[in-house]
Amino acid sequence: MLETLDATVLAGHAGYQNHEQIVALSDEIAGLSGFIAIHDTTLGPAMGGCRMWDYADEASALTDALRLSAGMTAKNALANLDFGGGKAVIIGDPRKDKTPDLFRALGRAIETLGGRYITAEDVGVTTADMDFAAETTGHVRGTSAMGISDPSPYTALGVFHGILAAVSDRFGATSLIGLTVSVQGLGSVGFRLAERLHGAGAGLVVSDIDQAAVDRAVEAFGATAVDPDETHRVAADIFAPCALGGSLNAETIPEIRAAIIAGAANNQLASEADADRLHRRGVLYAPDFAINAGGVIAVALGLPGVAERRITDKVEAIGATLSAIFTRARAEDRATAHIADQLAQERILAAKARAAA
Ligand code: NAD
Repeated sequence: MLETLDATVLAGHAGYQNHEQIVALSDEIAGLSGFIAIHDTTLGPAMGGCRMWDYADEASALTDALRLSAGMTAKNALANLDFGGGKAVIIGDPRKDKTPDLFRALGRAIETLGGRYITAEDVGVTTADMDFAAETTGHVRGTSAMGISDPSPYTALGVFHGILAAVSDRFGATSLIGLTVSVQGLGSVGFRLAERLHGAGAGLVVSDIDQAAVDRAVEAFGATAVDPDETHRVAADIFAPCALGGSLNAETIPEIRAAIIAGAANNQLASEADADRLHRRGVLYAPDFAINAGGVIAVALGLPGVAERRITDKVEAIGATLSAIFTRARAEDRATAHIADQLAQERILAAKARAAA
């Protein structure tokens, strides 16, 4: 049911980055098939959500697990969490293929890893699914018995503090009054972010493919609605991508008029070259995995009995992390995304050196 794959065979697989352990999940009776990728446990147990997706084949599911787990190592390190990076992916259509037994089987597989991997919800997986996993493993977060099952308000809080840090760095300002933010995507995070920005005195330009969400923001915040394809082009001070990934690419970057890009969406850069494209254009980019860590911070720390203030302090500290990234990027004349990667690496290397000493 649980097979640790041979790393030498996987070395050529897309997304492989010296992962510590990769296990194949298979439980025919429960209908479970997928992978758990443990990328790095230097800072602590590998922590990262479980994604359920109708992957075209096993190879693409494995690639996703490998890429996402390595991304979690960097995200957790930058958020100053004592957790490494890991991810579980389940192959299947979350609308049709879910059963309680599938998540109980996932829990059993996680339990055999002895705490090296801790799961939580991600795309296609809900709190109720995590409740079933918790019947068979203790290595799960974000269940209904825990303090936090919806991470979005914390993600929005972290992005808000990231925006404040960027505004201070770029404009030397401590207030958002008189500034305009263009928010792309008014879902769980984007709408809450818009609410905070409005409360802080910023003007809003908003878009969503869901007209009802746009109408709500126009009504509640006096926002100006634009077509989704226009969001990055409008004359705003800050562009906040809060919809899907890939919104910063060779086509959109030359059209962006904002001086700052700071939003919640994962994988905003379509390719690595886009980090340098933004740098060359002089746009201050808040790397997505640094600014959107509020959710993972809340899920990681949100155990029963943990004070809310302890969580929000850590989420608000995303602002200070970003300030450090911006300062160093300017000093070294390098892209902020590359500096963020390096800072995460440095934290891991320092922990390795301490352990070896
Ligand atoms: P969500 O699904 O609740 O909201 C996404 C919104 O974007 C929806 O309202 C959708 O209609 C809209 N949208 C889709 N395509 C669009 C387009 N082309 N233009 C404009 N709007 C479009 O998701 P969410 O939880 O708010 O997450 C938003 C982003 O932030 C995602 O990329 C997610 O991976 C990332 N993120 C979320 C969290 C969290 O705590 N929820 C944490 C970290 C990162």
